Amino acid sequence: MIEVQGMPAAPGIGIGKLCFAPHRKRSIPEYSINKGDVASELERLCKAIELVDEELLLLHKSLGDSDVEKVDFITAHRMILQDPILKDTMETWLHEKLNNVESLLLHFTTGMEQHFRGMDNPMFAERSKDIQDVAHRVIDALLGYKRDDSLSKIKEDCVIVAHDLYPSDTVTLNFRHVKGLVTETGGVTSHTAIMVRAFGIPAVLGVENLLRNFHRESFSDPCLVVIDGNKGKAFLDPDKRTLASYYSLKKQRSAHFDTYLNALRPKVSTKDGQDVYLYTNMGILDELESPLLPSSSGIGLFRSEFLFPEKIPTEEEQYQAYIKILTSVSSSQEVTIRTTDFGGDKVPGIGLFAEDNPLLGCRAIRLAMAYPEELFRPQIRAIYRAAAYGARHGLGKMRVMLPMISTHGELLRARDLIDETLKDLKTEVPEIPIGAMIELPSAVLCSDIIAKSVDFFSIGTNDLVQYTLGVDRVNEKVAHLYDPLQFGVLKLIRITIANANRAGIPVSMCGEMAGASCATAILLGLGLRHFSMASYGLPEIAHAICNYDIEECQEFAELYLSMRDSDTAREYLLEWHKERNITLDIPGWGERGSRNSRRF
Ligand code: PEP
Ligand code: MG
Repeated sequence: MIEVQGMPAAPGIGIGKLCFAPHRKRSIPEYSINKGDVASELERLCKAIELVDEELLLLHKSLGDSDVEKVDFITAHRMILQDPILKDTMETWLHEKLNNVESLLLHFTTGMEQHFRGMDNPMFAERSKDIQDVAHRVIDALLGYKRDDSLSKIKEDCVIVAHDLYPSDTVTLNFRHVKGLVTETGGVTSHTAIMVRAFGIPAVLGVENLLRNFHRESFSDPCLVVIDGNKGKAFLDPDKRTLASYYSLKKQRSAHFDTYLNALRPKVSTKDGQDVYLYTNMGILDELESPLLPSSSGIGLFRSEFLFPEKIPTEEEQYQAYIKILTSVSSSQEVTIRTTDFGGDKVPGIGLFAEDNPLLGCRAIRLAMAYPEELFRPQIRAIYRAAAYGARHGLGKMRVMLPMISTHGELLRARDLIDETLKDLKTEVPEIPIGAMIELPSAVLCSDIIAKSVDFFSIGTNDLVQYTLGVDRVNEKVAHLYDPLQFGVLKLIRITIANANRAGIPVSMCGEMAGASCATAILLGLGLRHFSMASYGLPEIAHAICNYDIEECQEFAELYLSMRDSDTAREYLLEWHKERNITLDIPGWGERGSRNSRRF
């Protein structure tokens, strides 16, 4: 058995046959050419590009138009393919370097990769993968290799082990049979990570040297893999004991899941009859298919920046996407569109600019305000036009939410821009609630004032924890310090809820903490009544809420916060739940640290 440790990128237990993703690395010949060969090399390149374009077109057709997002993905790849920069650079290099075209293409992609990686920004790095993906397709075509599309043909339950998945691999995966994913690279903000999370597929990413240490020949066929997405562990060729214990844990969890499912309603009652509202977080249109969405109060957070990760979308594209979202919910459900949170750890490939310290830079609302014509105004128009369509057709209720508000002045400027944009809009649009994400300590401390200028708050604990504790949320070296249950964080949450209540506006939480059952009692005790999370987390939280009494939770939260230190408080947390026969699963917020592997 081999145990490997990586980053827990998507929770859950997955068991399936080991399936190595096709190895894309080829030995690419490098040889000199004569001046007279340049024209024929160029012709080879053009033919290969044509071939790849046909291949992508076929892929597009096989997906069908309803797969909007996947289709967009393929379209983006075709655009990369047809971008003149590729052909022009190759032509110049052929003349200058007098080398064969496949070796030049390889240099082109490595240079591109280094350029993007130099920006030290995970999302840029992701985009470099798209370019590599396309370029390697062209190299394959030049060398006469047929593209290995075995991943799209998987017919039995398996766990995929890969260096990394190309974006075009991810979009063609059959998620019904993929029970887990283990990769050497890929960050938590990668497209791969978002996709697997959206479909509830456990994933462990960033297992260093995975394929250097182990390869297909190291294992018998068939060979099983167990993946523990909560702990960031995977067991290749597990021994009987590990396998048995994970089968039993999985069975236990799925039995629990079924029980929990019975508790799930859009509005759940606590033991003492208080109402708590549950919402889902989403970022891609495929998630609208979630069977759990109808049992929630709607979408508490739609991360709009993930809708079009390849480019700045047009107003029309956004409008169509929002209509699709609205038509996927019922008239009683809410849809909260967060305006784009580009920047920080999730800059898309739009490449506006690079920064040395992006987490403290021009991200989210700051970027939107810096590029009002390109980013903010078209999105606001699309949201309000979709809201108008929704109102005409009796669809769900639209809300708009502004990310990373740091001061009241910033919020007022954004609101003014919304008003101006709507004034310029020719059609009549309805008034819809405008909310602020509270994810910076400064916003919390001014939440009494900010509350007067918005219709709702949503607490983004992923960033609030990061900016309160000074811990980069995607840096595994400090991941053990990333802890939402720290007093400093909880006290800021308490202030936010109290100020929202005083102002009479609803307050929800849409960070990962809202879906962590170990935090539910404290959050209820602090007054939270609206929870938004990844949809597969809803049943467990619904079940937990039904079993809590609010008065007890209030006492518990106060006592927790009066403890000497957070270790003692954690003991108390476990004890308090044990007394109520609740076994807590405290997520490995701090377990991303050590990345290694062990062989038994
Ligand atoms: C958050 O910060 O908690 C949040 C929900 O936003 P994101 O994770 O998209 O930054
Ligand atoms: Mg955030």
